[in-house]
Amino acid sequence: MIRLALFDLDDTLFHHRQAVRAGIAAHVATTLPGIDASSHLDRWDALEEQHYHRYLSGEIDYLGQRRARARDFMAGFGVTLGEDAAAEDWFETYLVEYVRAWTLFDDALPCLSTLAAQGVRVGMITNGIPSFQQPKLDTLELSAHFEHVVTSGEFGVPKPDPAIYLHTCNLFGVDPAEAAYVGDRLHTDALGAAGAGLLGVWLDREATASPAETATAADSGAHIIASLHQLAPLLARS
Ligand SMILES: [Mg+2]
Repeated sequence: MIRLALFDLDDTLFHHRQAVRAGIAAHVATTLPGIDASSHLDRWDALEEQHYHRYLSGEIDYLGQRRARARDFMAGFGVTLGEDAAAEDWFETYLVEYVRAWTLFDDALPCLSTLAAQGVRVGMITNGIPSFQQPKLDTLELSAHFEHVVTSGEFGVPKPDPAIYLHTCNLFGVDPAEAAYVGDRLHTDALGAAGAGLLGVWLDREATASPAETATAADSGAHIIASLHQLAPLLARS
């Protein structure tokens, strides 16, 4: 029986990708007049993927990944952000636009309400730092739903390391076998959780799962859902 549901934040409850793309488009519109941002959004996404994972692996620090993303993005326009302060200022200006675009997925709050009605406790594990993630929870009125929010920045190791899942289950006093973890990344979220003994749930909103990924999920006992509306029924029968 599943008594505890743990959630990823970005692109699971919180529409991170949409906010990122709206944020960078607005930033480009004001700082690079005449440039059409739409053809550069994928490049910005790719730079986040590249440099944020360098941060999570310990290769660079948190501010370092921000500077790297700013510098590489602007280098594509022939602009050099040489000084650290220049790169950080550029990123801070982008963040103003990113924050302006914050929103939840439509199924987020209904899912949390249904789980509460089922008596399922709720927590969060996010690969980020508290000062960046907690304002999202507060602004979007998610905080009250979560008994514990664990960030990799505070804990010291990120998902998919089993330690962060086990630490969080321990905070709740719940056996991992009675906990589920849902997130938008197969390996980082669903398989990482399954490796720690939780029920892994991959939220594949765009139904991108390949046959190989579906088989990999099945091999680890992880489930695939396309919407958070499917989570409470899944946990009720697990
Ligand atoms: Mg995510």
